[in-house]
Amino acid sequence: MRTNNVLIIGGGVIGTAIARALSRYELSITLVEKEVEVGFGASKANSGIIHPGFHDQPGTLKAKLGLSGNVMYDKLCKELDVPLKRIGSLLVALKEEELGILEKLKVQGELNGVPGLKIVKGEALFQMEPNLTKKVKAALYAPGLAVVSPYELTIALAENAQQNGVKVILDAEVKNISSVNGALKRVETKHGFILTDYLINAAGLFADEIASMVEARNFTLLLRKGEEYILDKKTADLVKHVIFPISQKETKGVLIIPTVDGNLMIGPTAKRIEKKSDLSTSREDLQVILNRVRKLVPQISSENIIASFAGIRAGSEKGDFIITPSKKVKGFINVVGIDSPGLTAAPAIAQMVVDILSQEGLKLRKKRDYQPSRKKWIRFRELPSREKGRLVKKDKRYGNIICRCETVSEMEVIEAIKRGARTLDGVKFRTRAGMGRCQGGFCAPRIVQILARELGIKVEEVTKRGRKSNIVLTKK
Ligand SMILES: Cc1cc2nc3c(=O)[nH]c(=O)nc-3n(C[C@H](O)[C@H](O)[C@H](O)COP(=O)(O)OP(=O)(O)OC[C@H]3O[C@@H](n4cnc5c(N)ncnc54)[C@H](O)[C@@H]3O)c2cc1C
Repeated sequence: MRTNNVLIIGGGVIGTAIARALSRYELSITLVEKEVEVGFGASKANSGIIHPGFHDQPGTLKAKLGLSGNVMYDKLCKELDVPLKRIGSLLVALKEEELGILEKLKVQGELNGVPGLKIVKGEALFQMEPNLTKKVKAALYAPGLAVVSPYELTIALAENAQQNGVKVILDAEVKNISSVNGALKRVETKHGFILTDYLINAAGLFADEIASMVEARNFTLLLRKGEEYILDKKTADLVKHVIFPISQKETKGVLIIPTVDGNLMIGPTAKRIEKKSDLSTSREDLQVILNRVRKLVPQISSENIIASFAGIRAGSEKGDFIITPSKKVKGFINVVGIDSPGLTAAPAIAQMVVDILSQEGLKLRKKRDYQPSRKKWIRFRELPSREKGRLVKKDKRYGNIICRCETVSEMEVIEAIKRGARTLDGVKFRTRAGMGRCQGGFCAPRIVQILARELGIKVEEVTKRGRKSNIVLTKK
């Protein structure tokens, strides 16, 4: 049994960001994830926004790490070859009496250190967003908001961490953790025992269960489900910025989001739930979303919805991130209560965890051969025609278009599998095959066959997302 310097539980954006940040040092690091792929928790089911930082209360970890995380994104995405678009946001006031809230949020943002905030109105505002309802009185413009693909980012963080020596073990649920006299002893996973000096709890929705395996838990998670709806790319030009409403509640409200991939997304809702498995979407909540976004951009229509999903925010009862070492069990660090803006803050959270580990006695010696860059593979649809022709001549699998909606070639699906995709969703999140108008109606059967062929398994064994989500069923 190898003793790790650091074991990370959870392969969401937080666990993988921590793994990558630590991978620049001479350490033995393992990340364990209970699902068959990384990023299958909240990190795949969110709005993909790198928030500018005016929503968060000054003095909180959310405000501090959200702002520094936002600033770190340009370098991070460049190094990982992950698309990032700084499209900015407009928080709109529909009533005269809401203008004071815009001013208040501007002051709050400035206190947090958010640059470039300004109030826009009249002609200037409608030039920025011609399709906004003319009822809008004014808006708070934040140029620093960016959009990213959260699953592409999580996969890239894990890939780059692995490139730098981190061992990632999938389908390895942590079942038990033992400690003796305040010192960690061993971690039991589905695949056996792992020894470690330091243990990071980045288990998202299940972080409370992991913490309870180690010590008397001193936090409670509050679960809030968010439903989101994706619109056909033909609606992409309706808005250019992320549009926020004025929200009276603890959430940021229901938004209109131009995604980094060129769709429009509307949502999320925020409903308190108890069941960690409740990822259902409902007609009623869709109606709530549509009513709210149409008040801002009346042209948005349900006819253009092509997909829906729900994600669960695992916030802490005290309303802020909890990132602290245990006082009782040396080496155990909770990184929990990471709801929004967790994606935004991820790189800064990772840096904070590195600093905590160092304060807790972990020796950090920089690797000479640390490789910060990771290259994504060829995206056929992004190439100019001449280059496409050259590639098809070189390998005819580039000419075999598997997903017609998103123009994904057979070669890209094969490359995704070589890089670690084991499921239909794993291929989808790496290539976008199945994310277009027909939602996999055309490509799913073909991808199932390619997965079976490349992985050397039967088509009946191919799953949508692991566990028992087999796609082709056999008669018993
Ligand atoms: C609807 C919605 C919209 C959001 N929008 C935004 C946004 O626009 N911008 C933003 O900044 N933030 C946003 N967030 C918040 C953001 O998604 C989260 O903060 C972030 O994804 C949390 O990442 P994580 O790694 O902590 O959790 P997760 O992604 O859930 O990862 C935790 C991982 O731990 C694994 N795990 C759990 N138990 C075990 C175990 N026993 N053994 C091994 N592995 C285990 C899980 O399988 C999972 O993969 C949104 C969240 C939601 C739900």
